[in-house]
Amino acid sequence: MEQEPILNQHNKREFPPMHTAEHVLNATMVRMFGCGRHVSAHVERTKSKLDYDFPRPLADDEVLEVERRVNEVIMADLPVVISYATQDEVADRFDLERLPDGASEVVRIVSVGDYDECLCAGDHVEHTAQIGTFRISSTRYQDGRLRIVFRLTT
Ligand SMILES: [Zn+2]
Repeated sequence: MEQEPILNQHNKREFPPMHTAEHVLNATMVRMFGCGRHVSAHVERTKSKLDYDFPRPLADDEVLEVERRVNEVIMADLPVVISYATQDEVADRFDLERLPDGASEVVRIVSVGDYDECLCAGDHVEHTAQIGTFRISSTRYQDGRLRIVFRLTT
């Protein structure tokens, strides 16, 4: 048997559907606007807020389009797959600067179908239909930061 790699401790346990929605929203923002993944997050069971480094507010139709695309990924019921690699093997695929200080040499890759992949030690659903329906409650723009507040309904 292969030895289980020792991973960084994740500092909090998130609600897997919410946390997986966070991955899908990040990928959607990167794909639609060419921005980076979120710069800060407040992920709770019923409501989450993600902040992006962003040049402007989102228009209403853009908010609807983000919501539509996230729900499209959810309804496609993509598998969420965990794999492992060394930092060297994935240095050209991921921004290793995002890893915490003292991160282990072995990293954990979380893939949402072929829609998203990122390094993450958190808890996720097994396939995207388990997320529920994604709804953006509000957005706010201030000082170069776009905040997206969202909820999940079943
Ligand atoms: Zn994750």
